[in-house]
This record gives sequence, C-alpha cells and structure tokens, in this order.
Amino acid sequence: MPEDSDFFVRFWGVRGSIACPGAAWAAYGGNTSCLEIRCGRQLLIFDGGTGLRQLGEHLKSEAPLDADLLFTHSHLDHIAGIPFFSALFEPSNRFRMWAGHLVPERTLRDVICSMMAAPLFPVPIDIFTAETSYHDFTAGDELAPRPGVRIRTTTLNHPNRATGYRIEFGNRSICYVTDTEHVPGKPDSNVIDLARDADIFIYDSTYTDEEFPRYVTWGHSTWQEGIRLANAAGAKTLVIFHHDPSHDDSIMNEIAAAAEHSRPGTLVAREGMVLRP
Ligand SMILES: [Zn+2]
Ligand SMILES: [Zn+2]
Repeated sequence: MPEDSDFFVRFWGVRGSIACPGAAWAAYGGNTSCLEIRCGRQLLIFDGGTGLRQLGEHLKSEAPLDADLLFTHSHLDHIAGIPFFSALFEPSNRFRMWAGHLVPERTLRDVICSMMAAPLFPVPIDIFTAETSYHDFTAGDELAPRPGVRIRTTTLNHPNRATGYRIEFGNRSICYVTDTEHVPGKPDSNVIDLARDADIFIYDSTYTDEEFPRYVTWGHSTWQEGIRLANAAGAKTLVIFHHDPSHDDSIMNEIAAAAEHSRPGTLVAREGMVLRP
C-alpha cells in the first residue's frame, strides 16, 4: 500500500487515436491513453484507453478498491478499455466515473451504454459487478472527489469537446491536458492558467510543428506548442503524450532528443513510466 503522502503518476497507455502493437512501437508502448495517479492511498485513473486492461491486472491484489475514473472525453481511444477492465468485475470494488464534456446533451452513463450495445458489443454495462456511479460535470468546475485531493478542470479545444485536469495533492500538482488543438501564435490561456507552476505537465503532442498544418481541425497539438505553453505557464517538467501511431520508436527517439535540446528535462511518456512531482 502506498505511503499516505506519496503522489505519483504511472503511464499505462501513451498512444493517441488507435492502439499500435508491434515491435517498432514497443519501446514507448502501443496502448492508448490511461494514467494511474495515486494521492496517498487514493487511486485516480485518468482515461480508459486500451492501457486500462493491464492496469486492471495490476490492481487485482488491491480489492476492495474505492476509486475514481475520470475521462478527458469519450472518443474511442479514451474509453475502449472499459469493458476489459477487470476491476469492474469485482463485486467488492467501487468506482465513481466522471466526465466534463457531455452535459447537457448527453451523460457519461448514456455514452458508455452506447458503446457497450449490440451490434457493437455483445454485453451491456449491467455485466459490471463492481458498484459503479456516473458523475457528469461541466469543464471548468472544481472537483474534490476525495479528502485532500483537489482537481481543477478546464475546457479544451477538441471536436465534441474535452476536459483538461489539474490534480493537486499536498503542495504538488500534475496537469493532464489531452486532446486539444492549439492556434499557432495564440497560446491557449485556459491551458496556461491550468498548468501555472505545475510540477508535471502532460500535454497532447500528437504531431510535430512541421506536420501540424496537414492536420488543422483534427483536434491535436504539437510537442513544440507544449514547450511554448510550459514556458508561458512556468511548468516544471513537460511530458510529451498522445503519440501519433505513425511515430514509431525511432521517430519518438528523435522527438525526445529534439525536445531535450529545446527544453532540457522534457520527457516523452512511455508505458510503465512512473513520475513523482
Ligand atoms: Zn485521443
Ligand atoms: Zn479525441
């Protein structure tokens, strides 16, 4: 069991858009977005991409769990792991699920039901035996899901909307900002405010600045914009995240070297990586 004051993030999925298994992606990892954040004894999970399946295996020895699962948004690469998350099939577990991008038109429960419905999926959400509850909020709201954990949120620039999170525990902070598109030359003040003086700033770095013009309106950003935002916000460690499936390990190594040169200490997220703010 973690120490009461321990605060860390572990990456279970770092990829954007679609999982990409294969030898050429193995060093950074092929699973889509999923983070485990521990605030002392409290477990928070951010996004339910394909990385969620392995996190479920990792959590098996910890039942009964009382945890929160928060979604940036509900594009498939952020929710596809939910039906395969074994912790939802353990009756002694309790999960609160959160999303800030859906109301008033939809609810999180309704969206997960739509994914787990015939003919897309063979079984409905009733198969979950854990106690689950669904909580919709509006991006911009502040959440206090657990004692001592403060979560600030903001709205991101993404098709069908998305929510950026800042998790504060003790005097430290982790900021998780994916999926979002920037406007060149106009740094997003919502993101700068959220990432202000953050210890760890995880940012949608799907593309490079050179690739970006081909993907305007697709809803993603670049590692170079991540550096500009981290500098503007005074964030400490920038973590490049939501890697494009076309960026295999050799391309990610080049990005890592270029980012280290531009802003020393910048990290590229890899599956299994653990960071303590
Ligand atoms: Zn995504
Ligand atoms: Zn998305």
